[in-house]
Amino acid sequence: MIFQNTINFAKQLDLQDVLRKYKEEFIFPTVKGKEVIYFTGNSLGLQPKRTKSYVDEVMKDWAELAVEGHFYAQKPWWDYQERFATPLSKIVGGLPNEVTVMNTLTVNLHLLMVSFYRPTISRYKIICEEKAFPSDQYMLQSQVRFHGYEPNEAIVEIKRREGEHNIRTEDIIAKINEIGGELALVLIGGVNYYTGQVFDMKTITAVGHQVGAIVGWDLAHAVGNIKLELHNWNVDFAAWCSYKYMNSGPGNASGCFVHEKHHANKELPRFAGWWGHNKERRFKMESEFDPVQGADGWQVSNLPVLTLAPYLASVEMFDEVGMEVLINKRDRITAYLEFVLAEIGKEVSGSFEIITPISPEERACQLSVFLHGEGRELFEYLIENGVIVDWREPNVIRLAPVPFYCSFEDIYHFGQILKKGILKKAH
Ligand SMILES: *Cc1c(COP(=O)(O)O)cnc(C)c1O
Repeated sequence: MIFQNTINFAKQLDLQDVLRKYKEEFIFPTVKGKEVIYFTGNSLGLQPKRTKSYVDEVMKDWAELAVEGHFYAQKPWWDYQERFATPLSKIVGGLPNEVTVMNTLTVNLHLLMVSFYRPTISRYKIICEEKAFPSDQYMLQSQVRFHGYEPNEAIVEIKRREGEHNIRTEDIIAKINEIGGELALVLIGGVNYYTGQVFDMKTITAVGHQVGAIVGWDLAHAVGNIKLELHNWNVDFAAWCSYKYMNSGPGNASGCFVHEKHHANKELPRFAGWWGHNKERRFKMESEFDPVQGADGWQVSNLPVLTLAPYLASVEMFDEVGMEVLINKRDRITAYLEFVLAEIGKEVSGSFEIITPISPEERACQLSVFLHGEGRELFEYLIENGVIVDWREPNVIRLAPVPFYCSFEDIYHFGQILKKGILKKAH
């Protein structure tokens, strides 16, 4: 499609957008009395209007039923997480019993590492990406230390080539093969939080398996954003948070995937708790742990129902629309954003560059823009003018035109505000 950087053209695209009515399903903050253009759904998604009723329902059941709510609430609390299995498994491409929701992301990565990072004298190394999300770095460092290794001997980072912004798949493959029999685990962020690069999870998982390693993925920036086929890709395990593209609220619950091939393996160690115990016998208070066969077997505690309620609202909203529709809009709106940036770039040349991969296979709903010169000032100008973007050192703003609630008109207006900001700075 040939785009135009005009308000009429943007409005035209909005009219063709099957998701356009969903913008009204979300609550937008305002700046100077106007709803903002929100580009930080990759960090904290907006609140869907329907979410409150899910929380209110739990509050009401708690008030009216108290402890009886475990079994007699509108959505009984004791197996509340099972409501996620079907819709969430569609979002991540797993079987219903391969997914569960519990705890928070870093906590779940730790719990999954207990089962899936089993270093031996000869096989103890972990591959991750250079400049992984800090929490993942701390998590990996503490895990290898826990097993008696030094991070610099056990953790191998895949580097970007000199002068390049993104990591090449061929370099990941080469590194996996180079480490070969010493490689215990590959654990990478499926979509890089900084650049928005989407990794070839299918290929990397297969290559990791060829050398006998376990392969897990941190899907914080991938879930609800890209098409995932965790089961078919044969991914061993994965975890994600729900507050970014999934719009479930600040710091909210995490989802986990454990491939079915591991479910019956009683040898896998895990840190157990009563909510992972055989459902029918949970309240018999037996002393021997008998895990549920499935991802639910990794559950630990009584469910935090009040935090799961907003996540359920969100998962049902995704299920109603389907990932395919979201992905179609995502590609179109991201391409339009790229086009508008290029048009503005012509008028104010040399002001910025996009560091996210150009190829649509390697990117999703995020363009990271490196600002030349006084970037911080421009960032503040955008915020003051109602464009919510985020700032990452040294000079990067990340723009996520989330398909659920960003419009093509938003993109056009953003371009105009950006141009004004850059021109103002030049004077
Ligand atoms: C957002 C994010 C996290 C955050 O982890 P929490 O435990 O939810 O604080 C971790 N890893 C990656 C890659 C992320 O993008």
